Amino acid sequence: MNNILESLAQLFGRTPRKPRKDELSPAAQKMYFYKKGQKVTKQQLIDLHDEHHKNSKNKWRKRRWITLIAVNLLFLVSFSLDIQLLEGALTASRFMGFHMADLNSALQVMLAHKTVLINLIIGVVTVFIMWILLGGRTFCSWVCPYHLVAEWAETLHLWLAKRGLAKNYTFHRGVRTVIYVIFALLAIVTGYTVFEFISPTGILSRALIYGPTMALVWVALLLIFEIFLSRRAWCRYVCPIGITYGIVGVLSHTSCDLRYD
Ligand code: SF4
Repeated sequence: MNNILESLAQLFGRTPRKPRKDELSPAAQKMYFYKKGQKVTKQQLIDLHDEHHKNSKNKWRKRRWITLIAVNLLFLVSFSLDIQLLEGALTASRFMGFHMADLNSALQVMLAHKTVLINLIIGVVTVFIMWILLGGRTFCSWVCPYHLVAEWAETLHLWLAKRGLAKNYTFHRGVRTVIYVIFALLAIVTGYTVFEFISPTGILSRALIYGPTMALVWVALLLIFEIFLSRRAWCRYVCPIGITYGIVGVLSHTSCDLRYD
């Protein structure tokens, strides 16, 4: 129970407590105690952190990418061939007739319209159960199309940062919680799902299925910001979808160890 509360507190912005040595994996122990007693520069810590994550990341990366691309292509194929296998987009869809709704999008819609829609409830419950079983945060790394392009942008960011051509400005972890509340309030006050207009997840999903729009310029700007100024900034400091699935992940006890946490 304490672990769940601690995980939720960290999700909403609390600084993670320093782990005891016996709680760390051998690779992490090497990272944290590698130069005990010596002064470690910020860049050395980043390098050690990268080294620590390299093996496990590479092992799963191919599988994640294939799954992510396959899921998103299934929307496109289904729409293009009109086979009604997977209809809609990531925010709201029907898989073989079953309603599915992104949890955050559904919440935004209900707050904006101040009504509880039965199809959304069915979709939310279906998706909630699915991600409880799979581990909520797996949505990010195995399904979200922005995760894929942000990962590529991150690789470029690291390459540029090593050469002094990019910065990594960081912000307080609680910023994302404040933004979560702001988007919820904006939906209530304006009657529009404001977040959906700027969500790169929804923009990329719809662009892939229905064709590119000007909204892709916004996604490009986000990526440029992440490449040159702040590593994985959208996922770390803004995305309410990440918080929502993070909560599901904590509840399912199987949340993914994402690198930007
Ligand atoms: S935090 Fe948001 S944008 Fe980032 S991978 Fe998760 S759902 Fe996608």
